Amino acid sequence: MNMSRFRMLPPSAAPLYPRDIMAGLRAIGNPDEAVESLCAAIRNKFGVRHVSLASSGRAGLSAGLRALRRISPERDEVLLPAFTSFSVPSAVVQAGLKVSLYDLQPDTLAPDMDSLQGALTPKTLCVVACHLFGYPIDLGPLREMCRASGAALFDDAAQAMGASMGGRLAGTMGDVGLFSLSRGKNMTAVDGGIVLTDRDDVAEGLSAVLAEDGLKFLALLRDLANALALAVMLHPSAYWLPASLPFLNIGASIFDPHFETGGLDGFRAGLAGSVLDRLDALNAGRRSVAVSLLARLDTLGSVRTLRPLPEAEPVFLRLPLLPEKGGWPHGRVPEIPALGVVRSYPLALQNIKGLKPYLAGQGRFPMAEMLAMNLLTLPTHDHVREGDIAAMVSYCGRSCAGLVQSGTGGGP
Ligand SMILES: *Cc1c(COP(=O)(O)O)cnc(C)c1O
Repeated sequence: MNMSRFRMLPPSAAPLYPRDIMAGLRAIGNPDEAVESLCAAIRNKFGVRHVSLASSGRAGLSAGLRALRRISPERDEVLLPAFTSFSVPSAVVQAGLKVSLYDLQPDTLAPDMDSLQGALTPKTLCVVACHLFGYPIDLGPLREMCRASGAALFDDAAQAMGASMGGRLAGTMGDVGLFSLSRGKNMTAVDGGIVLTDRDDVAEGLSAVLAEDGLKFLALLRDLANALALAVMLHPSAYWLPASLPFLNIGASIFDPHFETGGLDGFRAGLAGSVLDRLDALNAGRRSVAVSLLARLDTLGSVRTLRPLPEAEPVFLRLPLLPEKGGWPHGRVPEIPALGVVRSYPLALQNIKGLKPYLAGQGRFPMAEMLAMNLLTLPTHDHVREGDIAAMVSYCGRSCAGLVQSGTGGGP
């Protein structure tokens, strides 16, 4: 066993503190008040008229899609980026809808507008746009395109809570918006989703779909145990333990359309309310790690980092990069699990086997495939230290030069 077993950075971490857990426990006694106070805080902070809470981000996404479907029952296809979290197609299928896809631009992860335009049909219920890794994209041109074709725009800011574009906050730029409170996101409440909208008709549909959850004792125990684990185990001196238990599936992205949709219970609403007060500080911390990483990575010349678009204020959930030469030496992404350096989603959505029966059409999405093959992501969270940054940058440089032996990276 080498020393790195004892210090291990998780790929992402939004820490929970004992005081957050106390706030969650206090909210159990008055769940309605905790839910209402979290909704009010979100309405205020993000300047939207309606907020609904869901048991997970997937559940919130599915509820938003169902609400849109009630308004346009003749439309049943949802247009997704071909490279994104597997939670996104899971939610579409769970909502009983079909998936169609558009490609992305490799330098910015913004939609390839030609690909998007080509995939829009009279059956398109909505276009989902994702601000991946906390880098906001400009939804202005998408909004125009959607309006012209009668489709809605879903602003999936599950990875970009607090990011903005030209002064507009991610999550508030479409007909419906989403934040996720699951473990790897900007802030966490163990699990949970936040759905935002200014449209009364959508809000009405949302409350019909997301009836509030009562207190379920076993679920509460599970959430409490998870919250305590998140408070303790995301620390670099403890993370090797959960990371070494394969059944926890830490960090894996899974396509699974079988999940429950419901509201958020009082415990997690209380937890989220407490963490929300720290969101800006969490984002500022990630930004400063990202700025430091970007400055050093630039001196390498052998990796290409994602450039924020003009007027974008990213929140840098993780720092994505590609090899300058187009592919990694030895054809494998150089991961370093001990430093939280891991590849991103391993497949473009069109290549997920279980999703094939639900795809509305066939198409080619070469950039999404290139991203799935090559995108490497570095951690930006609170536990990343100066020495970690230096180690990550030096490792990236050696990988690009082909100096890292196959195997030492601990790839898949
Ligand atoms: C995480 C995520 C979601 C929601 O996922 P949950 O894990 O269910 O909270 C939705 N969209 C994107 C882009 C995500 O990264």
